[in-house]
Amino acid sequence: MSKVLIIGAGGVGGVVTHKCAQHPEVFSEILLASRNEAKCKVIAAQLDRPIQTAQVDADSVDDLVKLIESFKPDVLIHVALPYQDLTIMEACLKTGVPYLDTANYEHPDEAKFEYKEQWAFQDRYAEAGNMATLGCGFDPGMTNIYCAYAQKNLFDEIHRIDILDANGGDHGYPFATNFNPEINIREITAKGRYWEKGEWKETDPLAVKRKFDFDGIGEKDIYLLYHEELESLSQNIKGLERIRFWMTFSDKYITHLKVLENVGMTRIEPITVNGTEIAPLEFLKAVLPDPASLGPRTKGKTNIGIIADGIKDGKRRKVYIYNICDHEACYAEVQSQAISYTTGVPAVTGAMLMLEGIWKGAGVFNVEQLDPDPFMARIGEMGLPWQVVELDPDHDPLA
Ligand code: NDP
Repeated sequence: MSKVLIIGAGGVGGVVTHKCAQHPEVFSEILLASRNEAKCKVIAAQLDRPIQTAQVDADSVDDLVKLIESFKPDVLIHVALPYQDLTIMEACLKTGVPYLDTANYEHPDEAKFEYKEQWAFQDRYAEAGNMATLGCGFDPGMTNIYCAYAQKNLFDEIHRIDILDANGGDHGYPFATNFNPEINIREITAKGRYWEKGEWKETDPLAVKRKFDFDGIGEKDIYLLYHEELESLSQNIKGLERIRFWMTFSDKYITHLKVLENVGMTRIEPITVNGTEIAPLEFLKAVLPDPASLGPRTKGKTNIGIIADGIKDGKRRKVYIYNICDHEACYAEVQSQAISYTTGVPAVTGAMLMLEGIWKGAGVFNVEQLDPDPFMARIGEMGLPWQVVELDPDHDPLA
């Protein structure tokens, strides 16, 4: 019987709250807090058990500490924005509450995508005997755990990993992003980057394209992107020679994005309009459909997974581990589309393992540093079943 504090009442926060509410045997009390308490109340009204709600400014350590001290949670799940990672980690450290998030810290004025500032908490968390679990969504999160599972159970050595993220969903809008548009567009318009033999190789944004036939979705164009899990996985998977990340985008999506980029709408540096400072990307976010509104309109499936290529018992081996998730089924269950669902379910599963002392430790951990087996054993029944398919080691599906 434990108390959970959830910060952030957006798309992912909704899923996390629904999923915690489905498990009263673990989460006996739930407090959902966000910048705007009205959004928490909307989510609370969807549930069939009562939860508490609160207003909090997660940019303020003092505000967070006050809230944490009044509720006394056993774990905190942070699903507000990556801009709040450091303040929430600081507040958890001050109050001795275990911390879990789904995205690495980002500075509001600079898209950097790196763990440096969160890893800097390592010694202080270790000394305090507290635990921070970083990047426990789907990617990062589930994909890191697939890698750890492959390393532990399927390979003696993994040499190459490709992470493949496909969204076959259609919401009927000409252009909309499936999660926070600001975070999403910053990620996609950044340079592509992958890691090979100890070095980072850079590509122009969306310059490297392949085709891949996804189970449950069909053939899609995939683009090489930098994604934050590459940073920790390149350090934590032994013997790794190369790791890349790929995501699907439709031609329609790419065309809209290129136009928006060309006219300067994806820029994050503020401009002055009639005396008011505004970042074009923030303005764009305000005019695009709210990701939370896509849920009831989205049909189709996601397929996210990893291809690992390495050696087992002296022989080459290549496996594909993935989950297929149906947008409509997610909406029927928790009133959200699959992107938020696939992020929120691993976060809740990770928090459960922390509360149960199955995932434990003093310090700051990326999820692949924790035991993948109990997570993989539970994540199917939590809503994200997975499969392992053996591939021909001599065939390169991404050639
Ligand atoms: P949303 O924008 O839908 O929700 C973010 C929520 O955080 C909103 O309720 C927002 O409040 C709240 N918030 C923002 N700033 C503050 C603040 N200063 N204090 C308190 N609350 C605040 O985002 P998503 O739900 O789509 O994403 C949530 C997180 O999940 C993000 O960090 C995102 O990067 C991550 N993510 C991770 C994925 C993964 O697979 N690992 C995939 C998708 C997302 P308001 O409603 O007032 O704006």
